[in-house]
Amino acid sequence: MQNSIVLGLGKDIAIYNIGRQLNDINERKDIMALMTRDQYIESLRKLDLKVYMFGKLVENTVDHPIIRPSMNSVSMTYAFAEKPEYEDLMTATSNLTGEKVNRFTHLHQSTDDLRKKVKMLRLLGQNTAACFQRCVGMDAGNALFSTTYDTDKAYGTDYHQNFRKYWEFVQKNDLTVDGAMTDPKGDRGLSPSQQADKDLYLRIVERRPDGVVVKGAKVHQTGMVNSHEVLVMPTIAMRPEDKDWAIAFAVPTDAEGIFMIYGRQSCDTRKLEEGADIDVGNKNFGGHEALVIFDNVFVPNERIFLNGETDFAGELVERFAGYHRQSYGGCKVGVGDVLIGAAALAADYNGAAKASHIKDKLIEMTHLNETLYSCGIACSAEGYPTEAGNYQIDLLLANVCKQNVTRFPYEIARLAEDIAGGIMVTMPSEQDFRDPNLGPYIDKYLKGVASVSTENRMRILRLIENITLGTAAVGYRTESMHGAGSPQAQRIMIARQGNLGHKKELAKAIARIDESKK
Ligand SMILES: Cc1cc2nc3c(=O)[nH]c(=O)nc-3n(C[C@H](O)[C@H](O)[C@H](O)COP(=O)(O)OP(=O)(O)OC[C@H]3O[C@@H](n4cnc5c(N)ncnc54)[C@H](O)[C@@H]3O)c2cc1C
Ligand code: SF4
Repeated sequence: MQNSIVLGLGKDIAIYNIGRQLNDINERKDIMALMTRDQYIESLRKLDLKVYMFGKLVENTVDHPIIRPSMNSVSMTYAFAEKPEYEDLMTATSNLTGEKVNRFTHLHQSTDDLRKKVKMLRLLGQNTAACFQRCVGMDAGNALFSTTYDTDKAYGTDYHQNFRKYWEFVQKNDLTVDGAMTDPKGDRGLSPSQQADKDLYLRIVERRPDGVVVKGAKVHQTGMVNSHEVLVMPTIAMRPEDKDWAIAFAVPTDAEGIFMIYGRQSCDTRKLEEGADIDVGNKNFGGHEALVIFDNVFVPNERIFLNGETDFAGELVERFAGYHRQSYGGCKVGVGDVLIGAAALAADYNGAAKASHIKDKLIEMTHLNETLYSCGIACSAEGYPTEAGNYQIDLLLANVCKQNVTRFPYEIARLAEDIAGGIMVTMPSEQDFRDPNLGPYIDKYLKGVASVSTENRMRILRLIENITLGTAAVGYRTESMHGAGSPQAQRIMIARQGNLGHKKELAKAIARIDESKK
């Protein structure tokens, strides 16, 4: 059983025990490091994760054909940080250590940092056409940095110090952190303490002098299987009676008591087919979610960042959601860029590219996509410093961003399907295409323009299918709807932040309304 991360940096190899030996954290040998892509992959091999899929324990999560593409996507957050041309976008100077860190572990220090975050996510979306998972931890980290500060100020607690130390550890080891907010929630009309089954929101079941024991689950956990650490937060604003549910903490993903059940995706088993390539649409990259069970997991005091201060649960949720709603103005736009490109190629290969309505549809797709990007950039440019010192996005604009994300990718996908034609969903399989008897017929009858091979036409159609209906649709469509909160959650925030009263005053002034006149 191995539960350490090995960071190889030339001759300096440091071994950090991050598995169950949580008390060793403060005794680790510190080095300032950016992990390379290869080091990241090797570090995952050292984890002792318990992941179940199709009823079986997965022996090797790193090389499993269904999981591997999602790991490849996260690995790009390391690979791009190695490229000199992206250094400014992919790395930053830490306010905690003064050292260079991967931007995915950075605590934003300016509106420029916030804008660069959005640009970085667009870049990675363009190069993976999938969810690269690492942003949830970055957003959770930034939300906790300021919320722990505010909680300490109100209650004289030590959470901010705990968090600073923890995040230094994350930065120095260049770790991938899962941001775990969403509880199963049971009856949506009831608060955590009112649920028939009290575990439907993750909670404290035992308090000890050296820490707490927690029980419950987190659902839809993006990238958990590819993460070193999991950062847990409450999922809703709470009342005093929900004290045992108001808990934020971090543990290693292979901590004792944690296990994961891998989420199914539409068309996922295509990846298991022999020689799977064309039919998977995006052979190299993907994303994943998992149901994560916390079966009496011990959390030491130094890893606790909220413990019963129910009045700060709402602030934490709002801040995390705000950052993640900003994130979508980058990552979804990058995937959108690939989808627009694929639709344009499908039109070229169909011989329809010159039609005015096709050109107009591509313009519309671009307009929708750039509108999302504009929202991501705008909420970043209008950001402001928190009392703790890191930068927060403009909440109203971030919520407008996410509200648009719940709609525009669907319209972009609809237009891509329109341009692609029905063959995108009725095409024979790759095996038939490779069959010596059937292949020539498919080659002949699925040909578009003479100058383009049938195989290339099939490839681009399968990519559109992947993003709009296949494994990547989890990220591009349903996650656009529900990820970082369902549409209504943004409308509540827009109502709160929209300042209708001020708008009424503006109208009254222009209309020269005198309310003293009855
Ligand atoms: C692909 C994907 C990836 C995700 N990744 C992560 C992740 O990495 N980490 C994480 O923590 N979470 C993650 N999420 C979770 C995401 O934040 C939730 O899906 C979202 O908050 C909605 O919760 P739900 O799915 O339980 O939907 P529900 O809460 O069941 O909502 C369904 C509908 O019911 C409505 N509704 C719910 N409750 C009420 C109520 N009390 N009153 C009135 N209407 C109500 C909603 O508005 C919505 O219309 C992810 C989700 C998806 C789909
Ligand atoms: S949905 Fe986007 S922002 Fe969220 S983790 Fe995936 S890539 Fe990052």
